[in-house]
Amino acid sequence: MPVFAANLTMMFNEWAFLDRFDAAAEAGFAAVEYLFPYEATPEAIAERLARNNLQQALFNLPPGDWAAGERGIAALPGRFDALKADVERALDYAAATGVRRLHLMAGIADRHDEDASSAYRRSVTYAAGRLAEKGIDLLLEPINGRNMPGYFLNDFGAAERLIAECGLPNLKLQFDIYHRQIIHGDVTIALRHLLPIAGHIQIASVPSRNEPDGEELNYPYLFGEIDRLGYDGFVGCEYIPRGHTLDGLGWFKPFARSSTMAILLGSIADDYTGASDLANTLTKNGLRTVQTVGIPDPSLALPDVDAVVVSLKIRSVPASEAVTAATSAERWLRQRGAGHVLYKICSTFDSTDAGNIGPVTEALSEAAGGGVVLVTPAFPETGRTVYFGHLFVGGQPLNESPLKDHPLNPMHDANLVRVLTRQSRNAVGLVDLTTIAAGPGAVKMRLDSFSFRTAGVTAVIADAIFERDLETLGEVALETPVSTGASGLGLGLARALVRSGRISSGGATTANAIRPVGGLSAIVAGSCSKATLHQLDIAERSMPVLRLDPERLLAGPDEIAAAISWAGERISAGPVVIAASAAPETVSRLQSLYGREASGHAIETATSIITAELVERGVRRLVIAGGETSGAAVDRLAIPAFLIGPEIAPGVPVLRTIGNAQGDMLLALKSGNFGGEDFFTAALAVMR
Ligand code: ADP
Repeated sequence: MPVFAANLTMMFNEWAFLDRFDAAAEAGFAAVEYLFPYEATPEAIAERLARNNLQQALFNLPPGDWAAGERGIAALPGRFDALKADVERALDYAAATGVRRLHLMAGIADRHDEDASSAYRRSVTYAAGRLAEKGIDLLLEPINGRNMPGYFLNDFGAAERLIAECGLPNLKLQFDIYHRQIIHGDVTIALRHLLPIAGHIQIASVPSRNEPDGEELNYPYLFGEIDRLGYDGFVGCEYIPRGHTLDGLGWFKPFARSSTMAILLGSIADDYTGASDLANTLTKNGLRTVQTVGIPDPSLALPDVDAVVVSLKIRSVPASEAVTAATSAERWLRQRGAGHVLYKICSTFDSTDAGNIGPVTEALSEAAGGGVVLVTPAFPETGRTVYFGHLFVGGQPLNESPLKDHPLNPMHDANLVRVLTRQSRNAVGLVDLTTIAAGPGAVKMRLDSFSFRTAGVTAVIADAIFERDLETLGEVALETPVSTGASGLGLGLARALVRSGRISSGGATTANAIRPVGGLSAIVAGSCSKATLHQLDIAERSMPVLRLDPERLLAGPDEIAAAISWAGERISAGPVVIAASAAPETVSRLQSLYGREASGHAIETATSIITAELVERGVRRLVIAGGETSGAAVDRLAIPAFLIGPEIAPGVPVLRTIGNAQGDMLLALKSGNFGGEDFFTAALAVMR
């Protein structure tokens, strides 16, 4: 993601010029630019930059007599000597500020006048040559004639031609998206064409030249595009603010506050456990990843991460509800810079004919401006493969696997092209294994042949048998705004991102997630799986374990109160374990008395209350055994998001809370059968 630079000529101008550096840093900007520095001394500016740890992104060479209406002198015949002196003056400021690019204004003159044209070329060649000696780029910016009537360089094509003709390596285009939209429009295609020669980008809303929010241009989309194109320079925020500080800036704030907060990959998961699995897969494949619980509040501050997985519960809700929730999540992710959004579905394509994969995929494609979406539930690691559009689970076609008897969504058809067609408004295509084996270029060509306009296709099922197929698909998908798939496609996307060199951490950095949090530690168990029961027996040898009485737990609050007071007496001396877990006979007895769902739910409520009380009493390191038990506890604790850390056991990473009301906590949320016999001590050894 680019670094955003506050334009101090236009922003924070309730302050004196030098104080605007402090204000920009205070607002979270890492860089600044302005039209002209020349009323302050180079030393004073250098001091403000250093004091605030700010980078100087850009400023203009002197513009001639601004008060008299001059807007640069480069294209004015007879001013060459003055221009030479201006270059030296600007270089003094460049030396003090460390700036790597300067903008040369052309002036008010007719672009078709030969004298003006040759004066301009002479000035440009001279200035670029002199700046090259200092390792500085010279920028030329086309400016629209509405804001600056009569300005010489009022056309992007003319700037591009001049830069090509001069052939100077440090002569570059200053791409102001605001001016581009007013002069020519067609911003995205122009970015794709011109970013290779651009040395700087600037932004503002069109037409009012205010904050980039909600007018003619879709800036979240453009930021994604700039990112996809691999631009790593500055983006100057040269708008005139409506309010006085960034607090009035709504969605733009997270972008502006820190360039590094923008994310590369977004995902919307259709259920929580799927989200955890994907988040863990992304982390293991080199992305710093956050998993949110629902769509977070706009004010949630994210740490520096590459990917965010928004967990929703939309797998089995009516399609219209799923579409509404998924598109809101998509907006949230795009607003944080996500260039690509993966709709995470189950690797068994869990859905009905009225189901959600088709409608959500189409809605996400539409929200991102159309285009064909790659769809694949393949995840070879867990035996899910797709061949000629047919999904295999282990060695069996989907419709012959146990999934044919799934209680909510029985799967009777292995042909996913047919399954997805029944869920979709538009046609569904297939990219078969032969094409995928031929590499990303072949897949791209195949996708192009499916464009909606020519073939009426929005989604294509993609085959994949080996991880390398998913890596190919990931690489292609990254160039599109949306894909749909399981954790396997997440693996492909993560590896493609790491290969592209766009991951600033250069691979997995989970160390940040396990920084010590201190506080007390506890283990709460609600899983009745064999593995958990054995883990509890082992734990009993080294820590106090309280076995709850399930019948008393259902009878009233006394058992909960007794458990909390039991824990209170012991917990300051070391970790304690509280378990509802019981052997199958006890579980069946309770279930026959109260019903399977009711008893399970009541015990989840009880264990979640106990967990919340423990946290209230200072527990900050928490291990929870049981998938549903964990979900209920996390909901009660109202934890908005987690940073994914290293795995304690396969499939069980350490989680660090983000935005938690009680401060940072470390959690291990373990599904029943996961982990070795000493899982609890192993988990607490990592969580300090
Ligand atoms: P797992 O990951 O092993 O499936 P879960 O937490 O998802 O574990 O599910 C276990 C379920 O069993 C929960 O609904 C929990 O409340 C319930 N449960 C826990 N202890 C008992 C018990 N003693 N009797 C009956 N049900 C129980």
